[in-house]
Amino acid sequence: MTEEKFIDDEKGFFDSTDKNPSHILPQKLTFDSKLKFRCHPGVPCFTVCCHGIKIILTPYDILVLRRRLGIAAHEFVLQYTQPTYLEKADMPGVQIKLDEKTGACPFVTPEGCTVYSDRPSACRYYPVGMADFHEGGTDDAEEEKFFFLVKEDHCKGFEEDKEWTIREWRADQGVDVRDEMNKEWLRLIMRRKSFGFQASLSDAAKRMFFMASTDLDSFRNFVFKSSFLDTYEVDEKTLEQIKEDDVALMMFSFKYLANTLFGAEGMTLKKERVEAKVKEIKQRQDEALKKAEQEYLELKAERDRLREAEKQRQAKAGE
Ligand code: SF4
Ligand code: SF4
Repeated sequence: MTEEKFIDDEKGFFDSTDKNPSHILPQKLTFDSKLKFRCHPGVPCFTVCCHGIKIILTPYDILVLRRRLGIAAHEFVLQYTQPTYLEKADMPGVQIKLDEKTGACPFVTPEGCTVYSDRPSACRYYPVGMADFHEGGTDDAEEEKFFFLVKEDHCKGFEEDKEWTIREWRADQGVDVRDEMNKEWLRLIMRRKSFGFQASLSDAAKRMFFMASTDLDSFRNFVFKSSFLDTYEVDEKTLEQIKEDDVALMMFSFKYLANTLFGAEGMTLKKERVEAKVKEIKQRQDEALKKAEQEYLELKAERDRLREAEKQRQAKAGE
C-alpha cells in the first residue's frame, strides 16, 4: 500500500485501458476467487503502507472522518488534506496530507491506524482493486465486476495463512457499504471522462463539484440560503431529510451535480423559472430577428441607392 492507493482502484474503475503497473497482478478475480492475506500488528511490515502514499478521499470518507474527529468539514479539509486532481478526469479533489518529513499519514501511530473503524475507502480496498464494466452505467450486476490483486514487495500480508474469498474479504473490510456510498460520486467522475475534455467544464462548475464533494456544510448553506429553492422543485420530505441528515444531503448533492454538470435527469426546475427562461430565450430571438430585419433593410436601401446612382451615371453617359 505504498503509492496512490485509490488511484490503483481508480485505474480499475476509470480506465481499464491503462497499462497495469507492475504491482498489479494480471489475473482477473471474481467474488468467489480465493485470496491468502492477513494484515495485523504482528506482520513485520506493520504500518509501512501508511507512509508515502496518495490516498484520495471520497465525499463519504470526509463525512465519516470529520465526524469521528468532531470537527467541521472545512476544518478537516484544511487540516488533514491537500488538493489533488482526480486522475484522467480533470476534476478537483483532495488527498490525505502526509507529514512533510516522515511521509506518514496523520492517523498512523506505531500501534496502527487511530481511525481504523472509520478509515478511508482506499485503505479498505487494499490489496483488492475492483473494475466495473458498467462505467457510468446503472447496472450493478455482480457479473459486471471483476477484481485484481495489488501485490507489493514490502507487503508481507500475502505470506500469512488466512484464506478468504474476495466476497468474504470485502465484507470483512466493510467495502460494500463504501461501494454504495461512493457509487454515484464515482459515476460523476466517469461521466466526466466520457464527456470528453474538449467539452471542458467551467471553473465555476469545477468549484461547485469541489465544494459539494468536500464540504457538505457549505453545500447545505448553498441549498438553504441561496436562490436554490426558488430555482428547483424539492419535495418537503427531501428537504426535511437533507436539513439534518448528511448522508441524504451527500446523495442529493450527487444528483444535483449530475444534473447541472452533465444534464442528467433528477432535478426539476420550478415552473416560474422555466417560464422565465422561455421568455428570456424568446426575447433574445425577437431581438435577433429585429436586428436581422434592420440589417436587411439597411442593405436593401444601400443596394437601391447604388442602383439609382448607376442609372443616373448611365443616363448622363447617354446624353
Ligand atoms: S487512514 Fe489509517 S489505514 Fe489509512 S493510511 Fe492512514 S493510518 Fe493507514
Ligand atoms: S501487511 Fe500489507 S497492508 Fe498490512 S501493514 Fe503490512 S504492508 Fe500494510
